Amino acid sequence: MNDVIIIGSGPAGLSAAITCANKGLNVLIIDEYLKPGGRLLGQLYEEPDGTWWNGINESAKLYEEALNKDVQFLMNTPVHNIEKAKDGWVIYTEDNTFNTNHLLLATGAAESPIPVPGWTLPGVMSVGAAQVMTNVHRVKPGEKGVIIGVNVLSAAIAMELKLADVDLACLTLPWNNQLTEEAAQPRKVMESLLHVSHMAPSPLVRTGSKFMKNDFMKKLGITFYPKKGVKMWDIPIQLRKAVIEIYGNNQVEGVTLATIDTNGEVIKGSEEHIACDFVCIAGGLYPLTELAAVAGCPFYLIEELGGYVPLHNTRMETALKGLYVAGNITGIEGAKVAAAQGVTAGLSIAKDSGVNGLESEIKKSIQSIERMRENAYIQFHSDVAKGKRILQDQWKEYKASTETVFL
Ligand SMILES: Cc1cc2nc3c(=O)[nH]c(=O)nc-3n(C[C@H](O)[C@H](O)[C@H](O)COP(=O)(O)OP(=O)(O)OC[C@H]3O[C@@H](n4cnc5c(N)ncnc54)[C@H](O)[C@@H]3O)c2cc1C
Repeated sequence: MNDVIIIGSGPAGLSAAITCANKGLNVLIIDEYLKPGGRLLGQLYEEPDGTWWNGINESAKLYEEALNKDVQFLMNTPVHNIEKAKDGWVIYTEDNTFNTNHLLLATGAAESPIPVPGWTLPGVMSVGAAQVMTNVHRVKPGEKGVIIGVNVLSAAIAMELKLADVDLACLTLPWNNQLTEEAAQPRKVMESLLHVSHMAPSPLVRTGSKFMKNDFMKKLGITFYPKKGVKMWDIPIQLRKAVIEIYGNNQVEGVTLATIDTNGEVIKGSEEHIACDFVCIAGGLYPLTELAAVAGCPFYLIEELGGYVPLHNTRMETALKGLYVAGNITGIEGAKVAAAQGVTAGLSIAKDSGVNGLESEIKKSIQSIERMRENAYIQFHSDVAKGKRILQDQWKEYKASTETVFL
C-alpha cells in the first residue's frame, strides 16, 4: 500500500509528490492524461523580467525530479470514485482499486462553455483545446480563427496562438442571453481586462489602462470604445461586438458578428460576416471538484475562486481525515501558486504520517503561497485573496460548529 496517493500530475500534484518523497514517503500519482504536467504543459509566456515560462520544460523538470525520488506514475487512468474506508481511502479506476491513508486531490480546473448557435460544427473548440493543440501537440487549430469570450485565459492563449503564427480575426464577446451573463457585458469585461493590462505589449495600452481604473473612466472607455476594437498583439479585441451565430455547411466557415450597446444588447441591422475556419469558445474556468463531492466534503460557493470549492484550511487539509486538496481544485490561479500549494499539502501529509519537526517548514510554505499569489503574472480573479479569506472564515465556523457537536 502506498503511504500517499495523489490524483493529478499537474504542478500541484507533482510538487506534492516530490515533497512527500523528500520526507521519505512512498508515493503513487494517478492521472487520466498520457503525459504528466497537467495544464502546465500548454503554458508559454514571457515573464516581466524577459525570461520565458515554458510549461513543457517546467513539467519535464518536475517529472524528472519525481522519478529520481522514486515516485510511481500511473498515467492514462481516470479515477471515477473515491470512498472513505475504516482506516483511509479507497480509489477506484476502471481496472483496479487502490488503498491509502493519505489521499491528495489535485485535479485542477475545467472550462465553462458558452452556448452559441452553430457551436456543434466541426472546427469549434474550447480555447483550452486550441492551447493544447498548438503548444502541446504542435498542430495548428486552423488557418484563421475567432475567439468568443474575452478574459484572462483567452487573452493569454490568443498571444500563444499568435506566437505559433495562427491568424486570429478577433477576440469578441458572446451574444447576451440568460447563460452568458457577465461574459456578454462590455463594462464587466472591460473591468476584467484592465486587470491583465500589464500583459499588453504596447506601452500606450499599458499606460492608458492605468488611467481607466476608476468607475467614471471605465464607463467612458466602454461608451467610446472604438468600433474597430483595440489591437493587442495585432489582434482586434472587440468589446462592442458579439458573435450571434457560427455558420458553415460541414465545418466552420465563418461567424456572424453584430455591434452591441454598452449593456450587451444587439443593435439590429449591424450584422456582418467574418470568414474563418475555426472558432474558440472561452467561458472561463471552474475548479474540478467531483471527487471531493463524492467523498462528502463540505462545499462553499466563492465567486472569487471560480465556483464551488471544497472546504479546506491553509494547510490544504479538508474537513475529512486523510483527505487533502491542492492547486486549482481549491480556486483558479496560475501554476506557480498551484505548485506552492502542492508543497504545503505534501508537508501536511508528511506531518500527519508521523514525520516530526515540520511545523516551521509548513508555516513558511503557507507564506510562500501568499507571496506567489501576490506576485502572480496571471491572476484569474482580481479578488482571489479575498476569496481565500472567506474560505478560511468558513473553515473556522465549520470547525467551531463540529467541535461543539462532538463535545
Ligand atoms: C484549459 C486550461 C488552460 C489553462 N491555461 C493556463 C495558462 O495559460 N496560464 C496559467 O497560468 N494557467 C492556466 N490554467 C490554469 C491551470 O489550471 C494552472 O496554471 C495549473 O496548471 C493548475 O495546476 P493543478 O495542478 O491544480 O491542475 P492541472 O494542471 O489542471 O492538473 C490536473 C491534473 O489532474 C488530472 N485529473 C483530473 N481529474 C482526474 C481524474 N478524475 N482522474 C485522473 N486524473 C485526473 C488531469 O488530467 C491533470 O493532469 C489553465 C487551465 C485550464 C483548465
